[in-house]
Amino acid sequence: MHTEHKKLALITGGSRGLGKNMAISLAKQGVDVIFTYHSNQTEAEATQKEIEALGQKAYAYQLDTSNTKSFDEFFTRLTTDLQAKTGQAKFDYLINNAGTALYAPFEQTTEEQFDQAVNIHYKGVFFLTQKALAHLNDNGRIINISSGLARFSFPGSAAYASVKGAIEVLTRYLAKELGSRGITANIVAPGAIATDFGGGHVRDDEQVNKNIASATALGRVGQPDDIGGVVAFLCSDDARWVNGQRIEVSGGMML
Ligand code: NDP
Repeated sequence: MHTEHKKLALITGGSRGLGKNMAISLAKQGVDVIFTYHSNQTEAEATQKEIEALGQKAYAYQLDTSNTKSFDEFFTRLTTDLQAKTGQAKFDYLINNAGTALYAPFEQTTEEQFDQAVNIHYKGVFFLTQKALAHLNDNGRIINISSGLARFSFPGSAAYASVKGAIEVLTRYLAKELGSRGITANIVAPGAIATDFGGGHVRDDEQVNKNIASATALGRVGQPDDIGGVVAFLCSDDARWVNGQRIEVSGGMML
């Protein structure tokens, strides 16, 4: 009888918000989870405990995904540790989720803000994925995270939305070039979701919340729970033929 090996996901930015929800959704599907956090160790430990309470293994690592120079050391640390703990050092799903908000009118966007957006949302994703390939099992999955803002345009998001657009194009190229290994690549584009993102304004600013709800066919802002299950689905066997796609998960925002 053919026995499937237990699957293992690597999620960047799994300590809070959407990444945490993805981690929990995957754990509910029987997947073990490695996730990274940037500075919030307390939240990371809480996420780790929640995954373990669901009966899956959870490993948390500090990583700044905007700092490509740290990636070799990260993968050495990760794989050495996994080898020692589990007897193997490969994973099956890479989910590039970590990110920070940037709201600045085009005319006032500084080069420093621009570089930060490129480094975290594009350059970091590009090279983390490149370096992950040696550790990603054949027939694995890559899921990137874009934004509704790459399809519709709100003032103040020129830099942020255009780097998300870049990662959408990259996703198609990943699908094309990695198909020979059976690896699929897809990108999920959430609408506005109530997380800490951007100072938590979608969740906490009543006016912003109302405006988004009225621009959304389903009449409310998104919640983390609206997103994690879609990512878990894309990692499931049922989604094996979905490849090179942008999947918007926004409740029908700005249709
Ligand atoms: P949150 O602010 O709630 O969480 C961000 C996560 O990313 C945290 O785990 C944080 O770690 C981590 N992180 C932040 N900076 C870095 C860094 N430099 N290196 C590594 N990790 C980092 O954001 P969301 O969960 O809302 O956003 C997740 C993704 O979804 C982002 O890519 C975002 O662009 C995208 N998105 C979000 C939308 C929304 O409305 N919320 C809409 C569309 C897309 P720590 O806890 O340690 O700080």
